[in-house]
Amino acid sequence: MPDFVPGYALGDTRAALLFPFIGERLLIDASGELPSQRALRELGAPLRAFCFGALAGRACALKVWPSGPLLPSGLSNGDYRGLWERWPPERLAALVRARQLAAWALHNCFCGVCGQAMAMSAAEIACVCPACGHKAYPRISPVAIGLVVKGNEILLARSPHFAPGMYSALAGFVEAGESAEECLRRELREEAGIEIGDIRYFGSQSWPYPHSLMIGFIADYLGGELVAQEAEIEDLGWFGFDRLPVLPHPASLARRMIEHVRAALTGKTRLP
Ligand SMILES: [Zn+2]
Repeated sequence: MPDFVPGYALGDTRAALLFPFIGERLLIDASGELPSQRALRELGAPLRAFCFGALAGRACALKVWPSGPLLPSGLSNGDYRGLWERWPPERLAALVRARQLAAWALHNCFCGVCGQAMAMSAAEIACVCPACGHKAYPRISPVAIGLVVKGNEILLARSPHFAPGMYSALAGFVEAGESAEECLRRELREEAGIEIGDIRYFGSQSWPYPHSLMIGFIADYLGGELVAQEAEIEDLGWFGFDRLPVLPHPASLARRMIEHVRAALTGKTRLP
């Protein structure tokens, strides 16, 4: 399978596979594919343009234009989560990186220290202030996600913004000064009203909404009655594997943890 190899370079992007963004949203054509360079001509010069890696040996570039009301004819920047169903995994890996870097490039046009216009560094992936030397690197926000196991059941919850009927493991952004494990204990306490015991690391996944690194754990239930935090959680409960709700996409870390626990409970593998 052709891999995506991350990289970074300024310079000529004409021969590259182009990922165009207006604001933080990818532009796609009517068939759900990346638009041609020609289709983007009416947008004029982008705010930022650089290469961010290679897909099967071909350079990948992104161009970012500021948000505005006008889209080039025949293109849309609608909900591209549907691309998860259609695009091959290596192109999705490129999209994950492009989406996060587009947001970073857009949010660092001006220096956060002295307010001067920032430039892209040629030496490293950074926006640099020519006046004071401040550098802004792409932001990565860690999120702890935990699948809690109680006997033969797992804790699943749904947020109001999930697809209809879908439930997943609970997750939350790590706060300043907090470890991922402390974050997970706090999130389970705040959002579900329960305490968890032993926490085991499962794996991690880069997630572009908005620039997250999901850090996955499997945890044992320790005590407490389920109480959903009203503002964040629409519904939650203990689910046996014989009556699961709609689950997240198979490529997601949450789904991989759910499938791992399912295999462990049927003796096919061991819990981490
Ligand atoms: Zn500055």
